[in-house]
Amino acid sequence: MGIGEVLRYLEGDNRKCIFCGRRRPDIIVESDGVGICRTCYEHYMRESVKDYYETDELVRRLFAPFLYTGRMRRALLDLKFNDCRAYAEPLGKLVAESLPPYYLYSDYDMLLPVPLHPKRLEERGFNQAELIARTISKYLGVPCCDDVLFRIRDTKRQMNLSRAQRHENVEGAFYADGKSVAGKRIMLIDDIYTAGATVRECAKELRGKGAAEVSAIVVCSNFMKNYNDASKIQIPIVK
Ligand SMILES: [Zn+2]
Repeated sequence: MGIGEVLRYLEGDNRKCIFCGRRRPDIIVESDGVGICRTCYEHYMRESVKDYYETDELVRRLFAPFLYTGRMRRALLDLKFNDCRAYAEPLGKLVAESLPPYYLYSDYDMLLPVPLHPKRLEERGFNQAELIARTISKYLGVPCCDDVLFRIRDTKRQMNLSRAQRHENVEGAFYADGKSVAGKRIMLIDDIYTAGATVRECAKELRGKGAAEVSAIVVCSNFMKNYNDASKIQIPIVK
């Protein structure tokens, strides 16, 4: 325990960890009364995938450091459905700090959070992908833009749909401002990558409008374990 942690402990100023739920003096990534304790932070740093996935022409690279399981899954569900918007910043920091060095030296032009439909945005009050993107933006020094890519069709929740249905559900759901994206290298940001339908549909729209490259950073994927050897992972791709 460092002196700062001891002082906090004595002052009773113990913030809550978004993963283990305990109030602890050793919260090291914090915002708004919540954060990640040292034990959980070190656990996730050890567990994180250390490299990006090379995918295909549509989504060039995908960085998905964590598995959508256990406490990580719980934290993401709380963020979205239990109005725990303060969770977004610690999660964004955790992702940013697990980024491989490649990202610090690659010059992407903009980060684009996967947008919500205005109706969904009004219901929830915030777009979790945008909050996460704003944190990553600070780390990478790449601007986060929320006025470039829009969801023009209110789609069903992807959760209970089959892979084919997911693809159909988001088809044509996005609109990108061509002037802003033409010739640009774009990094999409989202919370979860499962079948990849949403990210790929955004990429299709962006590439269709002339984006030079689209890559993506997500907090979690549901890829199978053995993910320390990222190159061997078969990325599920929706054709
Ligand atoms: Zn913890």
